[in-house]
Amino acid sequence: MTTLQQTPKDSYAAARREMIARQLLPRGISDARVLRAMGEVPREIFLPAQNRSRAYDDGAQAIGDGQTISQPYVVAWMSELLQAQAHHKTLEIGTGCGYQTAVLCKLVDHVYTIERIARLAEGAQDNLRTLKLSNYSLRVGDGSRGWPELAPFDRILCAAAPAGIPPALVEQLAPGGRLVLPVGPQGRQEMTVVMRDEQGAVNVEQRGPVAFVPLIGG
Ligand code: SAH
Repeated sequence: MTTLQQTPKDSYAAARREMIARQLLPRGISDARVLRAMGEVPREIFLPAQNRSRAYDDGAQAIGDGQTISQPYVVAWMSELLQAQAHHKTLEIGTGCGYQTAVLCKLVDHVYTIERIARLAEGAQDNLRTLKLSNYSLRVGDGSRGWPELAPFDRILCAAAPAGIPPALVEQLAPGGRLVLPVGPQGRQEMTVVMRDEQGAVNVEQRGPVAFVPLIGG
């Protein structure tokens, strides 16, 4: 009897489907565009070779330089909270390995992303090139100041936690804009959504406890 050998590619596709079925759907992720993007981006690309088999584990993982690739659920949750449409001009802070960037590249026409550690930014660029994604602009710098030359943004997603909401990010939010970010000191962070209405008024909602690396600077 012959047995069909499963190629690594097949097993990652299966792991990705399982991630959606076991980690995302049961926790309430329901946005079809977000689920499709999570199903399309191969997370294993973003991990060092020796950790690839754990790419779809239900948690954050080390990517070097004391930084982490966020838990799949958290990436999906933030993407859903962002409510991004294709035409929304979108800023991401904390590129890291570029996994969330890749998901955003599937959701919007163009992503502007800032990472403070040059070595991670270079790695992210390699990863995004491997996936043939090119609808993004990456800058090395302090994202707590936003990207003033390109403001305003319709959507801002920050993947590291400041102690308080950085005023520059709120200032760079367009009318009707949304900023999604973890806020607070280590151990007491809240997922936060900042919304600017069409008249310019700002409203802040806390959505639940989270654990992120700190946003440096600001
Ligand atoms: N987006 C990543 C997670 C990155 S972890 C993912 O998809 O998994 C948070 C990242 O924010 C780290 O890479 C860290 O270096 C970066 N960071 C921290 N403070 C920053 C700042 N002020 N400006 C830009 N990036 C920052």
